[in-house]
Amino acid sequence: MKWTALLRYVLALLLSLPLLVLGTPAQSAVDLTQPSYEHLGQQLHYLFEPVGKSFSLSDAMAAHQDGQFLRSDASILHLGIAPPAHWVSLDLNNSSTITLTRTLELGPIWLNRADVYLIHEQQVLQAVTAGSAEPSYQKAVAGQGFLVELSVPPGPSALYIRLHNNGTHPLMLRLLDDSQRQLISTWVHYSQGGLYGYLLALIAFNVMLYSGLRDRNSLNYSLFLASFILLNLTYTGHSNSWLGTDSFYLLRYGIALFMISMVWTGLHFARHFLDLKSHYPTLDRSLSWMTNSIVLCVVLLCIAQEPILVQYVTFPALGTFPLIMVLLGLLMLSKGLLAARYFLAAAAFGMLGTATTNLAVWGVLPFTPLTFHAIEIGILIEATLLALALAYQMRQHQVARLQAEHMARTDPLTGLLNRRAFFEFSDSLWSTALRNRRPLSVIMLDIDNFKEINDQHSHATGDLVLIALSSLLQDMARHGDLSVRWGGEEFLLLLPETSAQQAQQLAERLRRAVERLKPAGLEISASFGVCQKDQHAHLDSLINAADQQLYAAKAAGRNCVFCANGQNATALP
Ligand code: GH3
Ligand code: MG
Ligand code: MG
Repeated sequence: MKWTALLRYVLALLLSLPLLVLGTPAQSAVDLTQPSYEHLGQQLHYLFEPVGKSFSLSDAMAAHQDGQFLRSDASILHLGIAPPAHWVSLDLNNSSTITLTRTLELGPIWLNRADVYLIHEQQVLQAVTAGSAEPSYQKAVAGQGFLVELSVPPGPSALYIRLHNNGTHPLMLRLLDDSQRQLISTWVHYSQGGLYGYLLALIAFNVMLYSGLRDRNSLNYSLFLASFILLNLTYTGHSNSWLGTDSFYLLRYGIALFMISMVWTGLHFARHFLDLKSHYPTLDRSLSWMTNSIVLCVVLLCIAQEPILVQYVTFPALGTFPLIMVLLGLLMLSKGLLAARYFLAAAAFGMLGTATTNLAVWGVLPFTPLTFHAIEIGILIEATLLALALAYQMRQHQVARLQAEHMARTDPLTGLLNRRAFFEFSDSLWSTALRNRRPLSVIMLDIDNFKEINDQHSHATGDLVLIALSSLLQDMARHGDLSVRWGGEEFLLLLPETSAQQAQQLAERLRRAVERLKPAGLEISASFGVCQKDQHAHLDSLINAADQQLYAAKAAGRNCVFCANGQNATALP
């Protein structure tokens, strides 16, 4: 595959063109007595090996003498995806009088192979091969990179490193003293612990929500976060170190597979959460088709062991993923979906974090701990805002359900309970009264000659009368009484802790109040039937008895109260 090697060479040269054109002021050697946390890209020189020819150390040193090495100007040297084999050199100066011990921190963790040489007075003092391609190479320390101990004698020295790497290749290189190395190690442990701890807590909570509420969004969200954690564990090297394996395949293909699973689960979550299927079915189908195809393609390339092609698919997919999330958020926000606000903010932070880290690694933004870890910070904020989005959506569903329940219970015209709700609530009132031998009464009332009101005025006027009478009932009933629209213009009051006599008095007060009501300027009246629990074994029979009293009141000329008191009915005209 000679042409791919050539293509990679040309690409890498093109990438380094700005460095050639712009150039930088000559950098002095790294002063080892002044330890710094800075990445040393700006002091590096580099050279690609010619196509088809591999350089020995002495070839590289000779080429450097000849001035063939190029100067790097970013703190992280980035030569693109799978650059050809190349050399970097770094001049060191130990201005003290003793040999200094420094740790060379070399990243990223997925470097295949780095041959490190420490040269002093034209002699090779140390030669170490680090990398993940072979078990015999020095392994990386999770979260930090390859740590090579160097003993640098007083005076000028030089580091030569040959890098041969199939992956994307931002070269991160630092020289640390013992205390710096300790501090970085502690920081890595705490920050990774905090990151994973927080995300795992969110996952655990959402898995519980899923198992309790069967909310698919919670499950999709957990899967998305889990993919991110697995990706992070893999590219920091923690998965290898925790699993106690040297597997280069896990490092190489694991990163690609978890990247793509993050894209898949993220878009799956977004499609369901934003209910894309209902609003934009074609877009939803296309996204689903696209993500499934990419996953299939990456899996096949992993099986075929094509590491470079895998990266040409995964990196663009991961790069466009946050942008698609933001666009979906904007689209659904324009549709008026309120939960899309949280989603959009979450996606925007995710995108900002990813973009910041990428730009820092590519040297466009200054490389600082903050810009380098922006992707993790972005994900933390994104995860938090998505959790809020889920909570907001659940609250909206709850409110909608409560509204639906309320509507199912109430009569839409009058706002009183309907018959269905009455039977739901009356059971417990009835059994409490029975158990505790407490009084309980029922008033049935019916508007007199209501048909005439409808006929002579209008159905709408009739409605106004019904509404006015209903609010009168609600005002005059006590808290704990049930006011029900029983039928067209017929109402029922269930009165716990109320004797027949008290209920009769209330009915009488109501009757007078109805007379005074004059809804829509009309004189109206109503007839009342009252009955108390007494010997009635069932609520139905009590209601029937009250209904009979109402019937008797109608028969007696209307606008009166009839009360069943034992066998006797009392009329109060
Ligand atoms: P009575 O004194 O014997 O009760 O006579 P009435 O005219 O009140 O009784 P009837 O049963 O003959 O008529 C009841 C009317 O109530 C008939 C029906 O059209 C009307 N009605 C039922 N529901 C509604 C409603 O929701 N709005 C209006 N405006 N009228 C209704
Ligand atoms: Mg009537
Ligand atoms: Mg009626």
